[in-house]
Amino acid sequence: MEQSPLLPLREELAQVTPYGAPQLEVSARLNVNENPYSPSLEMITDITQAVSEAAAGLNRYPDRDFTALREALAGYIKRESGLDFPVEQIWAANGSNEVMTQLLGAYAGPGRTVLGTEYSYSMYPEYVRGAHSKYVTVPRQSDWNLDLDALLQGLQEVRPSVLLLANPNNPTGTASGEAELVQILQQAKETGPEINGRPTATVVVVDEAYGEFRDPEQPSALALLEKFPHLAVSRTMSKSFGMAGLRLGYLVAAKTVIADIMRVRLPYHLSALTQAAAIAALGHAEEQLRQLAELRERRDALAAWLEAKGYTVPKTQANFVLFGPFPDRHQVFSDLLDRGVLIREVGPAGFLRVSIGTAAEDQAFRKAFEEVTK
Ligand code: PMP
Repeated sequence: MEQSPLLPLREELAQVTPYGAPQLEVSARLNVNENPYSPSLEMITDITQAVSEAAAGLNRYPDRDFTALREALAGYIKRESGLDFPVEQIWAANGSNEVMTQLLGAYAGPGRTVLGTEYSYSMYPEYVRGAHSKYVTVPRQSDWNLDLDALLQGLQEVRPSVLLLANPNNPTGTASGEAELVQILQQAKETGPEINGRPTATVVVVDEAYGEFRDPEQPSALALLEKFPHLAVSRTMSKSFGMAGLRLGYLVAAKTVIADIMRVRLPYHLSALTQAAAIAALGHAEEQLRQLAELRERRDALAAWLEAKGYTVPKTQANFVLFGPFPDRHQVFSDLLDRGVLIREVGPAGFLRVSIGTAAEDQAFRKAFEEVTK
């Protein structure tokens, strides 16, 4: 056989392995913060019908601007946060991962820097690498809450074009309140790179992938959009909405931000099937949101259970709990896996993260955990 020629792989990818958590068929899958409940039969019926109708038009490209889906998202956002946004302020893509890569496509780039915080979402450095930009992180406090002073100083020193702030944060579960976000947004008004001698703003991306799990008295960052046009709030149907398999993430931001994203998006990025299924699913928002209170309750109970055993558990406002430290977290992880319970080795050294599952999965985790830590 002829020897294959060397391919011109980008040099910075030489040591990179494809990102992704294990997908294993075990009895309790608690490693990627999914909603544990399958869609209801009514929801499945509606989605099936919508997809079947859309299938009849698959010879045509889909609606490039997905206006009907943006309207349905506007309705959901109003239902969840009480706030009204026109479709021109709403954007969507195949998962919030794609939304954020589009944002970086518009605002990051060679020679630019993206700022984040330590112990945050592990995909952020990957997005930034894809945008040929530099990723810099600022430390968090010892309880993993945001270190506001470090972040404000980081903005000033690094002059990032984008700040990526997961709120609630993954994997710590910790969240910043409105007052902190306002200070960050105030500071970020002129901390971006200079263009033609003029200061720009840092685009502050508040990633609310777990936004609906926040404590009910905490407002969403959506409430700050009116005052801060350099804010972009990213959300997803993957977590609280229970539709991780659909791949639908969305963004709410100023019209100019959406218009800038449109400069880099690929045409027809959202398939007609995705659009149809998402609109049908959004018609069932009530039943999806009804599960939130139960998941939150079970999250707090699990956090308290782990704390009572002497573990450190940061205050979480998401659908997962970070806990530890363990002298050998990998051993605990694999002993749990041997018992059919899959969790995640992520975050600070010695810590593990478990997603909130069904009541039965929760019990399976507790039972297995007691066995392996006996
Ligand atoms: N942001 C955060 C903080 C996440 O944890 C995740 C999923 N793990 C995402 C974004 C991406 O979610 P999706 O692409 O499914 O919308």
